[in-house]
Parts: sequence; structure tokens; C-alpha cells
Amino acid sequence: MTGRIHSFESFGTVDGPGIRFVVFVQGCPMRCLYCHNPDTWGAGGKSFSAEEVAQTALKYKSYFTGGGGVTVSGGEPLLQAEFVTELFKILKSHGVHTALDTSGILFDAREPHKFDELLSVTDLVLLDIKHIDGAEHKKLTAHSNENVLAFAKYLSDTGKPIWIRHVLVPGITDNDDYLKALAEFISTLKTVEKVEVLPYHNMGEVKYEKLGLDYPLKGVEPSTKERVQNAKKILGSKK
Ligand code: SF4
Repeated sequence: MTGRIHSFESFGTVDGPGIRFVVFVQGCPMRCLYCHNPDTWGAGGKSFSAEEVAQTALKYKSYFTGGGGVTVSGGEPLLQAEFVTELFKILKSHGVHTALDTSGILFDAREPHKFDELLSVTDLVLLDIKHIDGAEHKKLTAHSNENVLAFAKYLSDTGKPIWIRHVLVPGITDNDDYLKALAEFISTLKTVEKVEVLPYHNMGEVKYEKLGLDYPLKGVEPSTKERVQNAKKILGSKK
């Protein structure tokens, strides 16, 4: 089984616990206005077998300290669920901690068991909730948040550890009412171990230029420290 890979990061420290080997897969159905990896959206990337990716990651196993391991991020990993399942199975057979960094957009409450095999070899889900408000989520990502929230509930109901991630964007998600609504939703979940507030930054702008795309958030300044603190307080963030 081969997967389409955008890139690898050998010593990731921001995508899950400890030091991690991060696999960025190619392809994403979302179109987040603040996406800093627009080069992962479409076709492309390089083809690797699950075994090849696992062997590359395992070279770094001795560095996986502090609860570290391997994270598959993107792009959207659930687009290549079969490949990620095979990769995680190999990694689990070597005792490596596995984390899935996903928007959850491909979950479908009518077929809740579609990703069960993958989840059975996933130790932690890093779930990006882009916006708690349905209409605003659609404006921000081009998709409704229905599947995302249903996935969060499914993970909670099935006992899967979750870290919630939320990008704070001035004028879009940085609004106390939305943050309180998100906190309220998170409080209904039983398996959330951590809530991370990720301050918006515009470092992806240069990639849009290179790809000949207009940067949708031109002129939006990164969040202030005060607003980040405010969001962390409302969301009960530990980071
Ligand atoms: S889900 Fe991630 S990779 Fe996809 S568009 Fe949004 S930020 Fe970019």
C-alpha cells in the first residue's frame, strides 16, 4: 500500500507529545483561509509505501522521548486512511506512539465505523476544530462543521484520547462568544486531554505567492499576546 506524501519532519515538537517524526500527507478537501500548507491541497507529493515510511521514522526511534512518536498530519490524513492504518500498524508493532492530526471532515455519522481500524492503532487524535459556528466554519473552510463535531463526539464516546486544536484568527475565530461556545462544546467531551490555542500567523503568505494564489487573509495581523491569553483562559487551555 502506498501513500502520497508531501514531506517529513524528523524532530517535530508541536504536533503531539514529546519529540516526534511527522509525516505530512498530500491532499486535503478543506480550503481553510489561513492554511499555511496550500501546497498540500491537490494531487502531487511523492509516493512511498507504508513500510518505507515506517522504516524512515523508526530510524529516529531513540529520539522519541517525553511520550514522543510519530504523527501523521497534512493535508488530511483521513483521505488516505488505509495507508495510515497500515503505517500505524507497523509502528505499533514496534511500540511507537501514534498520533493523527486531522480536521475530522471526512467522518460521516451515518458510517461511524469507517475509521475504526485506523483508530484502533491510533493512540491520540489531534482534532482541529476550525470554527464552532456552522456558518462561520463554512466561510472559513468551505465545509460545514457537522462531521467535525460528530467525530469529536464519536472519539469521546469510544474513549479515544483527544487534543483539541484551535487556530485563533483576529476577526474570524477570536470572538469571546464563539470561544465560549467552543468551551461549552469541549466540556461535553469526556476524553479531551489538552486544548491548544494556535495563534494565527501569516508565514504561509509567501507560499500562496509562489503558487500564484491570492492570499485570502491579506492584511490580517497575527493575534496579540493578550488575545491569545484570553482565548486560553476561556478554553481552559494548558498550552
Ligand atoms: S485542513 Fe489543514 S491542510 Fe487542509 S486546508 Fe485546512 S489548514 Fe490546510
